This record gives sequence, C-alpha cells and structure tokens, in this order.
Amino acid sequence: MAQFDIETDGLTSPDGWPDSCARCGAAGTTPVKLPERYAKGIPGVRLPFCDRHRADHADFARRSKIGSVFILLAMPVSAAATWVLHPHLAGPNAGDDTARVIATVVFGLLAALPVGLLLLLWTKTPIRVLAVVGRFATVVAVCEKFRDAVSAAFVPAKLPDAPDELTFEVSLYRPKPATPTDTGWLLFGAAATAGGLFGALVGTFGLQLRPDALGLERNSWWYVLMAAAPAAVIGWVGLGPSHLARPIAIAGSVFVGVLFAGIVAVVKLLTFSPYIWFAVVYALAPLVALQTLVLHPIIWHGRVRHGLLAGASGAVAPLAYAGVVYAIAKLGSGPQSAALILGPIAVLLLAGVNYDKARTPFCTRCDGWLTKRRIGAFGRSRAVMEPAISGGEIVSLARETPYQKQAAIGDTELTSYSCEGCGQQGTVVLELHDCVKGGKQGTTPTLKRVDRYLYPGPALLVVNKLFPPEEGAKAGGGG
Ligand SMILES: [Zn+2]
Ligand SMILES: [Zn+2]
Repeated sequence: MAQFDIETDGLTSPDGWPDSCARCGAAGTTPVKLPERYAKGIPGVRLPFCDRHRADHADFARRSKIGSVFILLAMPVSAAATWVLHPHLAGPNAGDDTARVIATVVFGLLAALPVGLLLLLWTKTPIRVLAVVGRFATVVAVCEKFRDAVSAAFVPAKLPDAPDELTFEVSLYRPKPATPTDTGWLLFGAAATAGGLFGALVGTFGLQLRPDALGLERNSWWYVLMAAAPAAVIGWVGLGPSHLARPIAIAGSVFVGVLFAGIVAVVKLLTFSPYIWFAVVYALAPLVALQTLVLHPIIWHGRVRHGLLAGASGAVAPLAYAGVVYAIAKLGSGPQSAALILGPIAVLLLAGVNYDKARTPFCTRCDGWLTKRRIGAFGRSRAVMEPAISGGEIVSLARETPYQKQAAIGDTELTSYSCEGCGQQGTVVLELHDCVKGGKQGTTPTLKRVDRYLYPGPALLVVNKLFPPEEGAKAGGGG
C-alpha cells in the first residue's frame, strides 16, 4: 500500500486522474465519489476505480459491520469456553472460583485480538484522505501502481512564458561585503566591552539584591514591586536609541513595568516565588540593551555587511556578560545568576539575528540598506516559481494574485528589496521563500529561503506595476 500528496484542487476534478484503479492499478476506470467521512471534510473528492473495485468503500463498510459482529460474538464464545474448560485444564491446584473468573474475563477479551486482526486483513484499509496540510492532502492506502501513475500525471501547471523583451537578466544576489575595517573592530570591541561592563554592574549590584542581603523572603511583595523596574527598562530600551527620549517611549516603559509587576503579583498569588521572576527580567534587561543600544546601531549605521563578523559580535556580547557575572557569582548568589542561563541562549539568538541583519541587501549606488517589502504569498509551488524568478520572467506572474496572510504549506512567498533613494537606478533584489512543513507534527507552515536574485533596476517598475505597494504598508528593512 502506498500514499501520496496532492493539491486539494486536484482531488475534486474528475478528469485530472490517470486511468488507473486506486485499489489495483488496472485500466478502465471511472471516477467514484469518496464518502465524506473518508475525505477529511473536502467536499466532492473523486478517485478512479475499476469495475471490480467501484464499490470499494461500500464493501468496506459492509465488511466492517460483519467484522464487528464477529468480534462481539468471539468474546462471549471464548469466555464461555474458558469457563467450561477451566476446571479440566487447571487441575487439582486450581484454587477457588476467583481464578476461574479471572481466566474467563482475560481469555474472553483476548479472543477478540486474533479475530480482530484476521478481520482487518479481510476488510482492508479504506482508501482515504488522511490529512490536509496547507494546499496539500495526503491520500493513503492506495496501490503503488496508482501512486506512480499519479505522480507521473500531475505535473504542476506552468506559468505562461514571458516575452523575450520583458525577460530580465538575472543573477543570484551574491554581494561582496565591504565592511570598513575600523567599523568592524569597533563593533566587535564594543560588543565585548559593553557585555563585560553590563556583567560587572549586574553582578555586583545583584549581590545586594539577594533575599538574605535585603532581609526579605523569596516570595516577598517587594520582589513583585522590584520586578517592575527591569521590565520597564526592557520596554524602554527595546525600541532602540532613536526613541529613548520620546515621551511615548517613557510612558510606554512605565506601562510595561506596571503590567509585568501585575503579572508577577498574580503569579505570587498562585504561590510561585516572585523572586525568580524578578531575577529573570533583571538579568534579561542588559541583554536587550546590548542588542538594541550597541549591536544594532553599530551594524546598521556603520553599514557592517560582514555576516560572520556581525554574528561573532552578537555572540561575544552575551558571552562577556555571562562570563563576568559567572566570575562575580563565585562571591555569592543573587538574581544575577539568571544570566548564566539567559546568556548562553542569547549567544545563539544574537549571533543569528545579527548575522542576518548584516546580510540585508544593500544598494551599490548609494551604499545604503535596501528597504524590504513583502509582496505576498503565492498559491504556486517552488517548482513553478523558482524558474520564473531566477529566469528573470517576473512578468509571468502577471495573472497571479498574491495573498497577504501567512503562506500555506506548499506555497511560496516573494519579497522585494529596493533603495528608497535611488529607486530604479539602485539595486533591486527579489527574494523567494518556500513554505515547507515544520513543527513537531509537521503542520506548522515554515518559510525556507530559496535564494535572493539580483534584478536590473528597471525591473522595479515592473514589480511595482504588477504588485502595487499598499499605502503605508511598507515593512522597514530593520532600521
Ligand atoms: Zn481495481
Ligand atoms: Zn541607493
């Protein structure tokens, strides 16, 4: 038995199927409607069956009815047999009737197992839609011949060819990163220094904040209040240096602090220690500050385009922070110890974030960063989209309507990068993502970058004509 994935649209079209019986693979088939309970709620699913197997599902239902009667009969029959035979088989040491009753119950139920297995073989597994994930449905219990015929018959519909005069010269976007050496070292040095400095401050100050130093219990209300301060700092610096002086940012940070203290108060009422929560925000605030006040501004304004250097700086800052805290933690415990757990997590996170940030496409004309715009998700697979985008045939997408909500599994997503100042004189990059199965169950749509493509400047006019940017819907490039 085999299974295959197919677009749900294909399931309902009666003439898309190859002439091959889903059960036996024989030719001479007619499309048969699948009973709804086998179709996972997709109305009008049709599969081809030969004359012999046309009644496959009705047959299955009939056989499973007979089967369940057999199972129900098998249990009392074998139970009765055990009851009658037990005294003869158990011999003189059989003991009292309890053993007889237990044997009867156990053997009576066990008899259902072999009978059930035999019946399963006889009824066969019904051909059915097992799962629907994104645009794709998984059909199981078909024969291998049919599966092969389907994969040969369903070649995804192609996009129309673009006329030659509207086909752009395209290459993969592989810029030569030219980070000024001094900026590079400034970034790395600032990351290490700031990390160490924050570690020293948080570490020494933390020694004074531990419960026994303050004469407090770990579930004291004071820790609920104290949690507000670092939470407010996170809210304040989280917006970045250009917003620090704004009244709205200050008011917002007070709100974040009060909100967090409220959450910790609820947690305290549920008898969890507020001290732990205070410790977490206390150790977290410097990490947020490192990213938004040190790493991001230097990378962004210093135009650091060296991904590895930016990634290494993102790693060294929390590493220095946690290292200094560790050195101080030998003098005594305190809320700063939470940095020993948060630090290593931040190493991975900030390395990845800043590597990616430094690899944002940039304009070769003015050396600024390009602005990112999500064009949208396309109901087309990577196999269809990749040749069109990489071949410069963006015009092939003229009839496509991208959707703005999150891409479904099996679909693709398109993003454009262009220079706000230079427009079509500047660099234009298209980025294609494939939406693949992710998560533990394989049902979470997960974007996987296929590649970035360098388009000639004038292509921007075509892109904006085909997919006009919505007013005010611009997504910033991160800066
Ligand atoms: Zn057949
Ligand atoms: Zn530019």
